[in-house]
Amino acid sequence: MEAESASTKRRREDDDDVIPSDTSESMESLFDADILRLTKVISASKITTSRQSEMIDIVSRLQATFRKSLISHRVTQQTADLANTLADVQTALQNVSAKLATTSLAAPPAQLSYAQAARSKIVEKVKVPSGKSVSPVSRSTVVIVPKPDSPLKTADETKTTLMKVLDPQKYGLRLDRVTKTGKSSIRLESEKTDLTKIPMDILDKAGLVVKPQGKSLPRLSLINVPTNLSPEQVKEAIISQNFHDASDEVLHLANQHLKALFRFGPRDQQNGNWIIEVHADVRRYLLASRRVYIAWNACRVNDHIRVTRCFNCQKYGHHSSDCKSELQCGHCAEKHDTKACSNLDRDPTCANCVRFGHKGDVVKHKAISNTCPAYLKRLDAKISNTDYGL
Ligand SMILES: [Zn+2]
Ligand SMILES: [Zn+2]
Ligand SMILES: [Zn+2]
Repeated sequence: MEAESASTKRRREDDDDVIPSDTSESMESLFDADILRLTKVISASKITTSRQSEMIDIVSRLQATFRKSLISHRVTQQTADLANTLADVQTALQNVSAKLATTSLAAPPAQLSYAQAARSKIVEKVKVPSGKSVSPVSRSTVVIVPKPDSPLKTADETKTTLMKVLDPQKYGLRLDRVTKTGKSSIRLESEKTDLTKIPMDILDKAGLVVKPQGKSLPRLSLINVPTNLSPEQVKEAIISQNFHDASDEVLHLANQHLKALFRFGPRDQQNGNWIIEVHADVRRYLLASRRVYIAWNACRVNDHIRVTRCFNCQKYGHHSSDCKSELQCGHCAEKHDTKACSNLDRDPTCANCVRFGHKGDVVKHKAISNTCPAYLKRLDAKISNTDYGL
């Protein structure tokens, strides 16, 4: 047993000490152990000191080379791992896109950039002055008026006549709202039925006719527009500076329908605000872009939906300059100018809510309040009368 060679002995020790493994870590510690042993052997050898240091030098260079190759081995290993991971990701992506193709799910239209597609959700709602956003509902709307030669004079008469000849049950009509609009006309609204299908001959026999009426185009406000531009120049700038990634159709709609309506805000400054009118698809495109570039300015863009209320009589739909009604106070609803109100110490009373027959706490707010039920109803009507392309 004494004749056991050093190499055999070492192999036995290796077998005992080291769990066989081919990881680079175990290779490294094995190698280090061998180097240490070799260095000891060299130091104990009966050779000259200069030979010893020469051999130790060679050993340490061998060790350095081994380390380097080990690192490159690890990098190769990691690169291989990375390549495998990438291949997995690629396969997963292919699966996802195959699924998207078969279910025709929300693959964003090609003309929208990724960021725009991500933001396109916001444009499904309309931002109203109270700061909230409301989802416009698609409603079918018709306005019914007496024919020119009809004896019907008031909206009530028109309504009574219509109710006599048109049986909602017979035609499967689901009316959400019937309102008087104008002197002798009434408006029907329905979320569930297409009201243009009401039989014309029945109306005709009763002396009534459907008044053709298109919905209004949506309006947008542009903040910080150079004030030295004419409406035509505003339109030109919007079109040439903002539709670079729009589809031909959206660009065409912008050319055809975009109108710079009026300017508002301070008159004496370099920049002011504009209200523009656009097609529903152009509204979507511009709101998703978030900024509208005009000349050197990046302008904020928002929905602009306003209910006009007269400062004189508080009624909706006209300005005080066109007012033909009596003065009515915006605070107490009595017959005086709001600015001259002597009832400011009392709870307010809303002139419009009183007029619409509300009572009690429901009317205890100023006419200007943006939570006023009469105002909200009017705002809702305005939104449903605007074409958001639903
Ligand atoms: Zn008025
Ligand atoms: Zn008053
Ligand atoms: Zn009110």
